[in-house]
Amino acid sequence: MPDLIPLLPERNHQYRDCRPCSECCWVLPLAVGHIDPHSKSLGQPCNRLASGGCRIHAQRFELCRRFQCTWLSDSKWNDSWRPDLSGLLCLREWIDEQVPAAIVYELRDGVIGSPEAVEILSELCRTTVSVTVIGRDDSRQRLVGAWKPDEAKNFVTLGQIREKSAA
Ligand code: SF4
Ligand code: SF4
Repeated sequence: MPDLIPLLPERNHQYRDCRPCSECCWVLPLAVGHIDPHSKSLGQPCNRLASGGCRIHAQRFELCRRFQCTWLSDSKWNDSWRPDLSGLLCLREWIDEQVPAAIVYELRDGVIGSPEAVEILSELCRTTVSVTVIGRDDSRQRLVGAWKPDEAKNFVTLGQIREKSAA
């Protein structure tokens, strides 16, 4: 799995505020050392997370201060695409520091077909060469090309890619 925690400037709240979203505190896997001495795997809540948000917000860790999902870092993204509203948490990344790609976490079952999800995935497919969707069951699916929800030929699972590679 690639490093899912991009090193970014400290969160810029000039145009956007995360609240009340706290999806990244649930979703992202954190290795020991990222939030020392705590670690957690994909889908587990951070043990500093309470119903009202981070219990240590003012003293939260460097990693937490710097982490930005695509919604937070891209002012052009619609407000309704915020992860807790859209059900998708998106991260842009670079493959070999050259090729734009994206990772998308599905936060709720069945959300992939929603109008917001279609818009988000279309935007990511338009601006990157590879979009990997990580499902609630930790499955991996890869979107290639200009994806449309009714065009299954453009929706290629990693299993299918492996099968093709082995053939
Ligand atoms: S998932 Fe994005 S919007 Fe939500 S709390 Fe994390 S950085 Fe902020
Ligand atoms: S320390 Fe706070 S901001 Fe960081 S992951 Fe945990 S709950 Fe979220």
